[in-house]
Amino acid sequence: MDRHTLNNTLNSAEVACVQSGVRFTQKRKNVLNTLLQAEKPLSAYEVAATYGELFGESIQIMSVYRMLDFLIQEDLVHKLSSLNKYITCSHILCDHEHNIPQFLICEQCEVVQEIGVKKNIIEALQQSVESAKFQLASPQLELRGTCKACQDS
Ligand SMILES: [Zn+2]
Ligand SMILES: [Zn+2]
Ligand SMILES: [Zn+2]
Repeated sequence: MDRHTLNNTLNSAEVACVQSGVRFTQKRKNVLNTLLQAEKPLSAYEVAATYGELFGESIQIMSVYRMLDFLIQEDLVHKLSSLNKYITCSHILCDHEHNIPQFLICEQCEVVQEIGVKKNIIEALQQSVESAKFQLASPQLELRGTCKACQDS
């Protein structure tokens, strides 16, 4: 990600936080910055290590988890349960409302794509789940496969 896009995205995240009345502290900003620069999913430990390299100060892992929870709540970061890693939302620069995110995870290079699945498909899925008397914790889908770049190489 180039510096311009990075700064734009951080600004946009800050505006979103101001609008929802929450504080975008320097640490929260740095954690988001760390994930934006990684451009791939990172574990909390990887966030802590990269944070140290980028900002020249160490951050405690509990602190990283707290920052990540905040960023997830604000839809700036998503947790990929199947990888136990975190990735920035690809819609931080967008104005539209955030839908339930679905992810395409490449098993070869671990690049993750956030996609929008049609609302009626998600609703149909939820109905099937309900009719199985199953209580859904999260409707987020994480689909695994091979990305375009890996297919081509
Ligand atoms: Zn998102
Ligand atoms: Zn968008
Ligand atoms: Zn790939």
